[in-house]
Amino acid sequence: MRSVESRARSRRFPDARVARPAHDRRVTSDDFSVLIAGGGVAALEAALTLREASEQRARVELLAPEPTFWYRPVAVAEPFGLGTVRHFDLGALAEEMGVGLSLGALAAVDVDRREARTQAGGTLRYDALLIACGAVPHAAVPGALTFRGPADSERVRELLDAIDSGDVATVAFVVPWGATWSLPAYELALMTASYLQASGRHDVELAIVTPELRPLQLFGGTASEAVRGLLDEAGVGFVGGSYATEHVDGSLVLLSGEALSVDRVVALPRLRGQRIDGIPQTLEGFLDVDEHCRVSGTDVVFAAGDITSFPVKQGGIAAQQAVAAAEAIAVLAGASLVPRPFRPILRGLLLTGAEPQYLRRDLSGGEEPDWASSSPIWWPPTKIVGRRLAPFLAALTGEMPVSGLEPPAGGVPVDLPLDPRGLELGLSSSDVPPTSPAGEARSVGTAMRSCPPLVEARTTLAEVARGMRERDIGSVLVVDGERLVGILTARDVLRAVAHGVTPGHAAVGRWMTASPITVTASTTLDAAETLMTEYGIHHLPVVENERPVGIVGLRDVTRSRRSPERLSIGLGF
Ligand SMILES: Cc1cc2nc3c(=O)[nH]c(=O)nc-3n(C[C@H](O)[C@H](O)[C@H](O)COP(=O)(O)OP(=O)(O)OC[C@H]3O[C@@H](n4cnc5c(N)ncnc54)[C@H](O)[C@@H]3O)c2cc1C
Repeated sequence: MRSVESRARSRRFPDARVARPAHDRRVTSDDFSVLIAGGGVAALEAALTLREASEQRARVELLAPEPTFWYRPVAVAEPFGLGTVRHFDLGALAEEMGVGLSLGALAAVDVDRREARTQAGGTLRYDALLIACGAVPHAAVPGALTFRGPADSERVRELLDAIDSGDVATVAFVVPWGATWSLPAYELALMTASYLQASGRHDVELAIVTPELRPLQLFGGTASEAVRGLLDEAGVGFVGGSYATEHVDGSLVLLSGEALSVDRVVALPRLRGQRIDGIPQTLEGFLDVDEHCRVSGTDVVFAAGDITSFPVKQGGIAAQQAVAAAEAIAVLAGASLVPRPFRPILRGLLLTGAEPQYLRRDLSGGEEPDWASSSPIWWPPTKIVGRRLAPFLAALTGEMPVSGLEPPAGGVPVDLPLDPRGLELGLSSSDVPPTSPAGEARSVGTAMRSCPPLVEARTTLAEVARGMRERDIGSVLVVDGERLVGILTARDVLRAVAHGVTPGHAAVGRWMTASPITVTASTTLDAAETLMTEYGIHHLPVVENERPVGIVGLRDVTRSRRSPERLSIGLGF
């Protein structure tokens, strides 16, 4: 594989105590080239899996824009002096794994030619591509301190100083709605409480404000109970079912219209995927994948980690997806294994400032009970649970992340097959803002217009552009049978043309926004407007059992604002 931009130099591990030759360093001579875009959790777990599973048949190259791997979860402990974020030289990690590394950022994919383009204009050919570029954090609550990771540790430290000097009496830790990783909000709140207790301060009020109905709802009932106990003990309030919108003039404003009086707010970011031309992405920039993590509508393009549309953004989940993708790729390379599908098991290590909590939940729809324990229930007892990455890093640094522990008997729990029904268990509750109770506000059904034309994913861009021009419309809905699978706007057509595709040959499915955000006829107009404002879009398809039945636009909502019979009870807009 040709390298682009600069080739990373291999160096020694700056923070390794013992760099052990734990892995086979032989580079294969085989011709099957695997390009992994990314240098984070999913990319490294996939590279390690491929080295093992591909039977030396695949040549693996990482493509990443920066030469460092950050172990971010420990960032929550840094402001309290309870841990230091480690970082690793990516070139050295790649060399240790026996894979190549090119510095550069994936910008586009030509699925038909099997070529990846970088932001600097380089082209890389691949036989299989794994996209593991992670997600980009965006501030979700204007006026709050957005905690994205190591870069914000210092700002939390400054907040603690402000508390110490008596300037701050109330702090809210906010989990935003939409794609996010909620654990750090709880960790920051509990560690702040523990910090205050240690300094004998009992006059500062702390609370978690979250769309979840129970603490860490994602982890299931057992974990919620355990975490509620920890919050109660630490004196941290829990304001559930709440969607924070902004912090202004000492008030944390909620979508319901209520406001909480709060001096300072620490909010987690909302996550989005970055735009990669040539493959269908959701409006939030995520990639839909199947159970082997193959990107929908492609043959040899896979995705793993935060960039996928799987609703849980978490390192352990990223690693599990990476394993599923790597095994499927190994089969493409000619390996004889039977690839296992992605079976999501959520494992979270909650730092509390005192004893940590190990939480585990089977999201695959299996029968396994939830777990909450103050002793390790996986090994090594790391924050990010990657089957190969966790022991690999532990062996490199010669350290166990939690000292003085011995491996428990029993080992890692058995995985169970993926059942999408399992994902309905509390996962989608924080994904969209709430609607008002029936009858309290006008609904989308009263304002929607008839459906724009429906096309199939294989329709060409040229056909669609002709249709748009003839009917003077700016978008079409893409269906598979009767089911809505995407939306294509005139802007998408322009993007494809600017990319250099031939409109008569390019299929709609490659350029549409996949799995668009939709509403139903009973969604309130207020909620529809919130969605459009939040996502920066002008239209929302209206569906009934996944079948498109109409469309509602911002203008329709604005018109309803002028309507004299509009009720004031609603979502506060
Ligand atoms: C403060 C904090 C605490 C967390 N705590 C936990 C925890 O306790 N447990 C847990 O499991 N998870 C935790 N997470 C989440 C976890 O870090 C992420 O879910 C995980 O890192 C996602 O892995 P990924 O490989 O998808 O993305 P990342 O690890 O973010 O890696 C993305 C990689 O892609 C590279 N990249 C970016 N753009 C491009 C491009 N265009 N082309 C090529 N490469 C690109 C990046 O440089 C990076 O190397 C936490 C996250 C934060 C921020």
